Amino acid sequence: MVVSYSHEPFINFKEENNTRRFQESLAYIKTQLGKHYPLVINGERIETDEKTLSFNPANKDEVIGSVSLANKELAEHAMQSALDAFESWKKWLPEHRADILFRAAAIMRRRKHEFSSYLVKEAGKPWNEADADTAEAIDFLEYYARQVIELKDGVPVKSRQGEYNQYNYVPLGVGIIISPFNFPLAIMAGTATAAIVTGNTILLKPAGATPVIAAKFVELMEEAGLPKGVLNFVPCRGAEVGDYLVEHPKTRFISFTGSREVGCRIYEKAAKVQVGQKWLKRVIAEMGGKDTVVVDKDADLDLAASSIVYSAFGFAGQKCSAGSRAVVHQDVYDEVLEKAVTLTKKLTVGNPEEVSTYMGPVIHEASYKKIMSYIEVGKEEGKLIAGGNGDDSKGYFIQPTIFADVDENARLMQEEIFGPVVAFSKAKDFNHMMEIANNTDYGLTGALLTQNREHIERAREEFHVGNLYFNRGCTGAIVGYQPFGGFNMSGTDSKAGGPDYLLLHMQAKTTSETF
Ligand code: NAP
Repeated sequence: MVVSYSHEPFINFKEENNTRRFQESLAYIKTQLGKHYPLVINGERIETDEKTLSFNPANKDEVIGSVSLANKELAEHAMQSALDAFESWKKWLPEHRADILFRAAAIMRRRKHEFSSYLVKEAGKPWNEADADTAEAIDFLEYYARQVIELKDGVPVKSRQGEYNQYNYVPLGVGIIISPFNFPLAIMAGTATAAIVTGNTILLKPAGATPVIAAKFVELMEEAGLPKGVLNFVPCRGAEVGDYLVEHPKTRFISFTGSREVGCRIYEKAAKVQVGQKWLKRVIAEMGGKDTVVVDKDADLDLAASSIVYSAFGFAGQKCSAGSRAVVHQDVYDEVLEKAVTLTKKLTVGNPEEVSTYMGPVIHEASYKKIMSYIEVGKEEGKLIAGGNGDDSKGYFIQPTIFADVDENARLMQEEIFGPVVAFSKAKDFNHMMEIANNTDYGLTGALLTQNREHIERAREEFHVGNLYFNRGCTGAIVGYQPFGGFNMSGTDSKAGGPDYLLLHMQAKTTSETF
């Protein structure tokens, strides 16, 4: 029997016991640094000549580990292994596949701090953010395992007299899972296991900046009993080997999470039918965001300011759901801005290994440079009223930055920066607020702070985003509670952690028998 699902609780780091355990875990991870992680193809460890190093973004000199990189030949080998493994894995009972995920969740729960500590070290996540990432990974494992059990007998359809109709879901084939750096455990594990639990086999390509945490997850799945060849670990250069896999005629589906630029490229390449290809590839593409926190004139202004600040600066603004735009009613604009600046100035920026740090570094040099160049753009487009400085001498640190009085069409209000930068824009009235909120190519998350019931109902209809929140910030979706995915250029709205998600990894088959 399936026990009812409730999400993994977050660790309270105000409790001394928890703090001590986490510190011990960080100390343990330090002893693990610098190890090498090979490819895993059909259960076999393969070391390659070409390797990549993974660094601590808070301390550029610290190597987290080295990882072998696949070339096209090894990617082909992984594809063949996944094709072979599919023939047996697809026949496993869904509940037996689910058991592996339940076991993986249990192991990860026991080693929670260890996984979170890798997230601190490799992704620069502060403790709370790292803990939330691990908790979400556990949630995905638990939730998808339960979901597949619900779907295992298909959905009832009508049968006329003398007839027996059935409607079942069958796996697709080999999928390519391509994951981003910003939820290097949760999104990687969630997208990988949704594909696996539904009977597919996969090639997993982790983000270039965060391959070690992915390698640790692959080890965990083996420990949980996943048969060889079901999950093939193929770190590789996205632009070269990624294209090869996306274009491969035997690729049945691609599950991508990352930037709009790469997502659109994959979507286009996958659409082209290759010689020997017998199907149209399915593409799940969850891409960028330009998410807005909207503040109405009668909102609780303290709540509004804190919602803006924590949505903008959690994990240094490197969340697809980050609130990088604040649209505030003119009557309360100055007050909300002032409150937000006061809160922002209190945020601690520094080494994520310290429990007191609110915001760590951004992920790497390219990201640092891109964000700093947007800060220069911001100085032209608005008034810099908080932050604005960076320091990349030891790690890639950027102060939480606020620009005021930015025009709704400015680059700062339109382009995804993916860093700790928020732009404030003033709105005349509620219509104007909705207009600015929807004036973006994206449509991932949004929040409305208001006590006006009519405005809540109107926003439910008019605010065109995949995840809309009232009287809170726009980040922090929980698996099974707030299924996640965006509209427009934010992607295919696959709704990770939701009741429809697994169906994207299967195809429905109707059988009809006449007696
Ligand atoms: P990214 O640069 O697009 O990379 C994502 C993944 O794609 C990485 O594994 C990358 O590999 C790979 N890749 C790059 N070029 C490729 C190619 N030609 N073919 C196949 N794969 C290729 O994104 P990111 O910087 O890691 O993540 C940040 C972005 O993800 C933001 O835009 C954010 O909004 C978005 N995101 C969206 C969601 C959502 O649910 N909508 C969730 C999280 C993040 P390399 O790292 O090796 O280049």
